[in-house]
Amino acid sequence: MKKFEMNLYNTEETQGFAENLGAKLWAGAVLLLEGDLGAGKTTFTKGLAKGLGVKRTVNSPTFTIIKEYQGNLPLYHMDVYRVSDSDEDLGFDEYFEGEGVTVVEWAHLIDSQLPSERLEISIFHRGDNERRIEVVPAGEQYERLCEEIFK
Ligand code: ADP
Ligand code: MG
Repeated sequence: MKKFEMNLYNTEETQGFAENLGAKLWAGAVLLLEGDLGAGKTTFTKGLAKGLGVKRTVNSPTFTIIKEYQGNLPLYHMDVYRVSDSDEDLGFDEYFEGEGVTVVEWAHLIDSQLPSERLEISIFHRGDNERRIEVVPAGEQYERLCEEIFK
């Protein structure tokens, strides 16, 4: 599988990258976010939300698992860190197949429930403000998207 990567040197760069990505997404797009605590998953999602035209402030849904925002497309922001049973069906499919864009923080924790076509994004902590982002597209639509945003 192809992998696209780049370095991001501050919060604004990460959000700017995510915003540009967000503006190119479609109904039913699914983005998986991996990275340690503090890597920047929620920060990335804030930028993405801006690109989707969401006006409200996006905060971590750690305690609620799923938060929904209205934009040009709806944004379904999930943080599955606290899902204790990885096979428990909390209705994720309805979001993945819904009218909006779904972003899942700690996605591997519900591995068996994830769609096979998706954009896999990993963020690695490199320094106080430096991060490395690695993006693996699964599915043709996502490959085309990567060719576009990394050119
Ligand atoms: P996570 O959701 O992965 O736990 P958060 O996005 O909540 O992480 O926190 C990331 C923190 O790191 C924020 O305080 C953010 O401002 C800071 N930060 C510093 N540099 C960057 C960067 N280049 N990209 C993303 N976040 C960064
Ligand atoms: Mg988070």
